Amino acid sequence: ERAAALQGGTGPGTLADGTRVPLLANLGSAEGATAALAAGAEGVGLFRTEFLFLDQRMAPTVEQQKAHYVALLTAFAGRKVVVRVLDAGADKPLEFLNDAHEENPALGLRGLRALRASEDILREQLTALAEADSETDADLWVMAPMVSTVEETEYFVRTAAEFGVKTAGVMVEVPSAALLADRILKHAAFASIGTNDLTQYTLAADRLLGSVAGFQDPWHPAVLRLIGDVGSAGAAAGKPVGVCGEAAADPLLAVVLIGLGATTLSMSPAAIADVRVSIARFTLDQARSLAELALAADGAAEARDAVRAAISEAL
Ligand code: PEP
Ligand code: MG
Repeated sequence: ERAAALQGGTGPGTLADGTRVPLLANLGSAEGATAALAAGAEGVGLFRTEFLFLDQRMAPTVEQQKAHYVALLTAFAGRKVVVRVLDAGADKPLEFLNDAHEENPALGLRGLRALRASEDILREQLTALAEADSETDADLWVMAPMVSTVEETEYFVRTAAEFGVKTAGVMVEVPSAALLADRILKHAAFASIGTNDLTQYTLAADRLLGSVAGFQDPWHPAVLRLIGDVGSAGAAAGKPVGVCGEAAADPLLAVVLIGLGATTLSMSPAAIADVRVSIARFTLDQARSLAELALAADGAAEARDAVRAAISEAL
């Protein structure tokens, strides 16, 4: 299996010591399912449901949503599928959830906050997901975006349970959620770290703004420290911690994320082959040592350089 992985085969994500780290796909529609499976995705780690309805003025109906979810869950029968409820706001505007002008949309009524303000839409989405789940055979997990408090976690888990969702979790993409991950994981069945937003909010740099793009680097030790806190909280609680931001698609950073406690990685399907090859070269202990090196650096570039240097020395 490991030999296959090293050759870039399509086996499951496995470290050199046999530790399994499932490699999952980020998808924005069920149409990407075939390509994702061909790329070796073991399941779906992030289904961005808002992508289905970006150009729509009115909220989608239950039936309209259900068709998408049935298609996705059918394609991934027998596998894990993590669906994110609508993540509206800032870079992902949805007219029917939040069309108010905001000075700082990244800090505004977005993600779970917006769904909570239009709770019917959340309830309809959970209805559609529950119905689709009951007609298919995938292992459905559902998570909420932009959660920033323990209370929001409790709210989402409680609401999802009303619809029979068995595995409800939250994205950790706001520093407050990372800092309180231990308490959040008392309620959530799992956490999935969104490194794109976690980096934006930790470095206080708009992810859409070219003039501050240099700050949007998930190798930054401040971001890594938060990820490590979430990983430790997950290990202590015995609950899975995935990473579904772009960071997981960087073959070297993927190893560091595993060292910080990530138990699954989700990425665009095109990145899976390279990440599989990269993680197969290291044991969990080695991944942890590389994570320590990155954490000890002063900045993103230094962290990347330290990890690269350690690897080339070892070769
Ligand atoms: C993230 O923020 O890292 C994430 C996975 O969600 P999105 O990129 O859709 O905001
Ligand atoms: Mg995000």
